[in-house]
Amino acid sequence: MSLHTSLKVGGPADLYAVPEDSADLQDLLEWLRTENIPWLAVGRGYNLLVRDKGIRGAVISLERFDRIELVNDPGPQPALEDERTYIRAGAGAENLSVVRFAQRHGLGGIGFISGIPGTVGGAIRMNAGAYGKGILEHTECLTLLRNGCVRDYCMSELAYGYRHLELEAGDIVLAALFRLEPRAEHDTEQEIRRDLELRRSKHNVGFPSAGSFFKNPPGQAAWRLIDACGLRGTRVGGAMVSDVHSNFLVNAGGATAADFLSLSARVKNEVFRTSGVTLEEEVRIVGAE
Ligand SMILES: Cc1cc2nc3c(=O)[nH]c(=O)nc-3n(C[C@H](O)[C@H](O)[C@H](O)COP(=O)(O)OP(=O)(O)OC[C@H]3O[C@@H](n4cnc5c(N)ncnc54)[C@H](O)[C@@H]3O)c2cc1C
Repeated sequence: MSLHTSLKVGGPADLYAVPEDSADLQDLLEWLRTENIPWLAVGRGYNLLVRDKGIRGAVISLERFDRIELVNDPGPQPALEDERTYIRAGAGAENLSVVRFAQRHGLGGIGFISGIPGTVGGAIRMNAGAYGKGILEHTECLTLLRNGCVRDYCMSELAYGYRHLELEAGDIVLAALFRLEPRAEHDTEQEIRRDLELRRSKHNVGFPSAGSFFKNPPGQAAWRLIDACGLRGTRVGGAMVSDVHSNFLVNAGGATAADFLSLSARVKNEVFRTSGVTLEEEVRIVGAE
């Protein structure tokens, strides 16, 4: 899995499946169920820390579900409002491709995901966001594969919050319907460039990372709490607290998942000792213990 994750750590999965479409995915899930094989759906692995022993079971990549389309009539479920148009994007579509597609159709409103690496599936699962905005605020409904059935769920039927979406175990996000607004192509271009430039200056940590490792506790910034402990540059094996952005734990060379886990535990302990705050990982930790 080190080949499929941005942290570049993690042992092998027993099986790596890339289904072609939803019928293929349903067949695969049925087979996994009859063989009693556990599985995990992934996007591009930008928010995944896979343990060194790898994943017992199957990893399912949704990368072929990358269709993006304009939807003028999203059907009876969502109330179609004036001056709004919808875009449906498959779980495997890259965030920036969705923003670019919208831009070509004179639409905008989700430019803040331009620089968030990964896919629509990962962004929805994580309620990815930036600058105080989360992608689910701009989502009308999700197409989920739940208990073997494909159905659209309005966001009003689902609970979500900061970097969090409540799903049932075994749910797979197949697509999302985004609510957009008219926006001049040029304005979106400026928004994308501003975002990418800001990220280049603030997030250019020079080593593989998964972005922010910890969630921001309510009303606080995780990086500030970590900085207050003087942890920039702290290393465990090849894992290091970035000296550019202290909420980025980076692979400074030859790191193992165990290095990251023990560095993460050290950061959490120090922050708790210094400020009484318990940090929670934003990165998803998966794999055999
Ligand atoms: C340099 C850098 C900067 C970053 N900046 C930001 C930022 O500003 N804001 C932010 O929110 N994040 C940021 N991230 C983190 C990461 O980009 C996001 O969490 C992104 O949404 C992950 O997408 P992914 O496709 O790689 O998902 P993955 O990492 O592959 O998966 C993430 C989670 O979603 C689940 N999942 C993925 N696809 C599906 C699906 N179709 N159905 C069900 N579950 C699924 C996985 O099982 C996993 O639990 C950054 C990461 C990096 C490396």
